[in-house]
Amino acid sequence: VEEDTQKTISEWKKSQKDKNVSYGKRTNLSIQEQRESLPVFDMKNDIVNAVNENQFVVIVGETGSGKTTQIVQYLSESGYNEIKNEHKIIGCTQPRRVAAISVASRVSEEVGSRVGDRVGYTVRFDDKTSPNTDIKYMTDGILEKEALYDAIMSRYSVIMLDEAHERTIATDVLFALLKKAAKSNPDLKVIVTSATLDAEKFSNFFNNCPILKVPGRTYPVEILYSKKPELDYLAAALDTVIQIHVSEPRGDILVFLTGQEEIDNSCEILAERVKHLGDTIDELIILPVYSSLPSEIQSRIFEPTPPNSRKVIFATNIAETSITIDGIYYVVDPGFVKINAYDSKLGMDTLIVSPISQSQANQRSGRAGRTGPGKCYRLYTESAFNNEMLPNTVPEIQRQNLSHTILMLKAMGINDLMGFDFMDPPSTDTMVKALQDLYTLSALDDEGYLTDLGKKMADFPMEPALAKTLIMSSEFGCSDEILTIVAMLSVQTVFYRPREKQKEADQKRSLFLHSQGDHLTLLNVYKSWALNGYSSKWCKENYIHDRSLKRALEVRKQLVTIMSKYRHPIVSCGVSLDKVRRALCAGFFKHSSKRDPQEGYKTLAEQTTVYMHPSSSLYGKSIEFVIYHTLLLTTKEYMHCVTTIDSKWLLELAPTFFRKTDPSKSSEKRKNQKIVPLFDKFAKDKDSWRLSSQPSLK
Ligand code: ADP
Ligand code: MG
Repeated sequence: VEEDTQKTISEWKKSQKDKNVSYGKRTNLSIQEQRESLPVFDMKNDIVNAVNENQFVVIVGETGSGKTTQIVQYLSESGYNEIKNEHKIIGCTQPRRVAAISVASRVSEEVGSRVGDRVGYTVRFDDKTSPNTDIKYMTDGILEKEALYDAIMSRYSVIMLDEAHERTIATDVLFALLKKAAKSNPDLKVIVTSATLDAEKFSNFFNNCPILKVPGRTYPVEILYSKKPELDYLAAALDTVIQIHVSEPRGDILVFLTGQEEIDNSCEILAERVKHLGDTIDELIILPVYSSLPSEIQSRIFEPTPPNSRKVIFATNIAETSITIDGIYYVVDPGFVKINAYDSKLGMDTLIVSPISQSQANQRSGRAGRTGPGKCYRLYTESAFNNEMLPNTVPEIQRQNLSHTILMLKAMGINDLMGFDFMDPPSTDTMVKALQDLYTLSALDDEGYLTDLGKKMADFPMEPALAKTLIMSSEFGCSDEILTIVAMLSVQTVFYRPREKQKEADQKRSLFLHSQGDHLTLLNVYKSWALNGYSSKWCKENYIHDRSLKRALEVRKQLVTIMSKYRHPIVSCGVSLDKVRRALCAGFFKHSSKRDPQEGYKTLAEQTTVYMHPSSSLYGKSIEFVIYHTLLLTTKEYMHCVTTIDSKWLLELAPTFFRKTDPSKSSEKRKNQKIVPLFDKFAKDKDSWRLSSQPSLK
């Protein structure tokens, strides 16, 4: 770091001599001038030529240099929307939905059209494109899904896989799919962009294609470490923000937190604390940024900070490289990120707060050096940075559950998974695990081929267990209810619990609690809201997050579209809510647990000890068998969103997963009949279990 800082200081001094550095004052420039001031502008011809002459091109450049917003426009201006008299789309993928939406609105403004017209976006549950669309931003998941129906990407002339350094599963899968598509579709161009210097690896994968480097224009950032480890990083972050605000020169602050709840709480506490700072201190504008935030609120972060005030933005990892906010001089980095990781002990994905890698820490501090020399407050020790953080982030594909991905690959007819061209192949264990998951969900047959159910499941852009729940709910006659529950599960926090009104909030919440569990509580909330005309006022009175419910309504509409498109009838079960619990059980039987006489619950699948989350309506009750939506690891392993089930359902709905012990067998005599996982099926030949459709590989 020291050396790097020295180097950048000298570069900065050099660049200061260059009087044309207008980077810091861009907000006063016209849109055209802003576009021309971006570092990537000087490379325009090089980029267009490289794309003209090569099917694959890798482009690296600092965050904020203009890759995402400009490159697609250069290609559009160079005629890439019409190939051989046919209209073609220039597509650009983003790992995050917010980024896709935000850049689409920015680029629409730059080209002077409405979002959804010449420039549009498609993210899960939200499509703003039209036949006029020349430039389409989308999540990598959306393009992966499109590959299911159009393997050679015939609608596109160019696809830019942006933010490739993030190495999401969908981007990793697209690397292979687009490499293959380009072979059969010689008109297709593929651009891979990255903010970090792993370009060689990408180039090697894409047949040693050329690498273009966009020169950075960054200022030095002074790094300040905590002297000793922070016990409470949230408190430390807020203290640091106040300290910067009262004692440091102007310049906006960016704080990296891990999720919506943390961000909302911090905004609230900080707003309270600044009230007591007195009138002599400048105004502090406090803004949150996370994926589920509606775009109108999000666009506020890009508005210039008014004079005599300072902005502080609390953001998730999204602000690390996906979106660029100008005017940041101070970064506060507690060093954590929330990731979805596969826990082999538990046998499933859990959302965990985990330390960031060194390269992420450097990306974060870099955010402070875009407008001028900045400062980054790392709320961890220098020794933690050097000795405890991994140099690079582990690609998602090597740490997450792959069942959704494998379901899609199977649906694309790709059965030979061992031969699939992964840049970094996932471990055999992870693949076998995913295949087992799909088999137990009855999405794959004994031979490892997709079943009819599996084919239907692949139509849904969500984890297989949820897809199966939706499909089964049509059969069980409760899809109206399950649609609501699935939509509600897709939004984050529903209940709002402000610090000073916790009692009132809890009291209101208690009115919605359902005695059979939290899925039905969510259903209650949504139904009451609908009965009250989807009113915001009602939300406020009941301490419910208005925007979460609005989002659930949106998601529900989209799910209804998918259900209708694939002819799954939408029916209500009325008061027979048992059907709802059965449908949930049909998808989530693997997330089942049984009360343990000693303490808490034990999962049926792996026999790990888990606990009822205190927020559950079942907390403190003696319920024998439950299923849960996710596990939350905080001080203990908590089941989150829990519902009661009848143990008979497990045998009935998941015969590929559970069996009854047989008391007549001597080894199983000791106890009464009970339900145990049926793992024998895989025990025999676990390592090669249907990784490929070719028996010879066995
Ligand atoms: P890169 O992809 O290289 O990180 P971008 O193309 O995203 O760079 O950003 C280029 C410039 O466009 C940045 O200075 C950024 O501030 C600006 N910008 C990007 N998105 C928006 C937006 N939604 N509103 C206003 N400005 C934006
Ligand atoms: Mg970008």
